[in-house]
Amino acid sequence: MSQSPPPIIDTHAHLDDAAFENDLADTLQRGRIAGVRQFLNIAYKPEIWNRSVELRDAHPDVELAAGIHPQDAANFDAARSDVLADQIMALQPLGIGEAGFDFARSGPSLEQQEAAFRWQIELAIAASLPLIIHQREASAQLMRELDRWPQLNSVVLHSFDGDDRLATWALERGFLVGIGGLACRRSSQALREALKVIPTEKLLLETDAPYLAPPGATSRRNEPANLPLVAETLAPLWGLTPEELCEQTTLNAVTVLNFSGPD
Ligand SMILES: [Zn+2]
Repeated sequence: MSQSPPPIIDTHAHLDDAAFENDLADTLQRGRIAGVRQFLNIAYKPEIWNRSVELRDAHPDVELAAGIHPQDAANFDAARSDVLADQIMALQPLGIGEAGFDFARSGPSLEQQEAAFRWQIELAIAASLPLIIHQREASAQLMRELDRWPQLNSVVLHSFDGDDRLATWALERGFLVGIGGLACRRSSQALREALKVIPTEKLLLETDAPYLAPPGATSRRNEPANLPLVAETLAPLWGLTPEELCEQTTLNAVTVLNFSGPD
């Protein structure tokens, strides 16, 4: 047989999602066999923060990030922001988020999303942790907000979804860009073109499992084992082999998200 697969870090997954409740151990194992050496579980609302800690405790290759998703921003209580910040820091997260703006669905008002987002921006700066951004149909609002915080330099634009303008801005700010199943879709031609300006040392591989399965996956439920397929589809954008893309993105995740280094 061939040599072992290149190491991969899945920098954005929702492994505590109900979609995995019956076969999480098998799902993680399939990921490991495919080369995934670590998983970042995104605990995106207070109700699942502790569940995510349990998951990390049960699996030494699972780490977590914690925050409040823009679609849950209505539940952010500014009067309790200090308590919530202490709770998040007690989880020992590798990052804050996912946080940002989502105007694609009806949900929390702009003011509510802004309040939750700014609290997480301040927390990321105070804690010197990367901020993981969720953005849907809000790129102008996102750029305007983050440009108010020049001291914020460790930022991951998760499942990057934007045009040349957003990509150029991300490049200028030195932000990291998460790539996964969304960019692999047939309909994502313009997105793939925009991604080419991002330097390879700013790329991260991610699934967003159980969401955003790449074309060619065996199930609509996405999972970490699909990342080699993502790497195969996207590596040519930067003139890389899939192995080189896996190695570079793993190095980036180790550097920026403070995953432990290669064994
Ligand atoms: Zn997510």
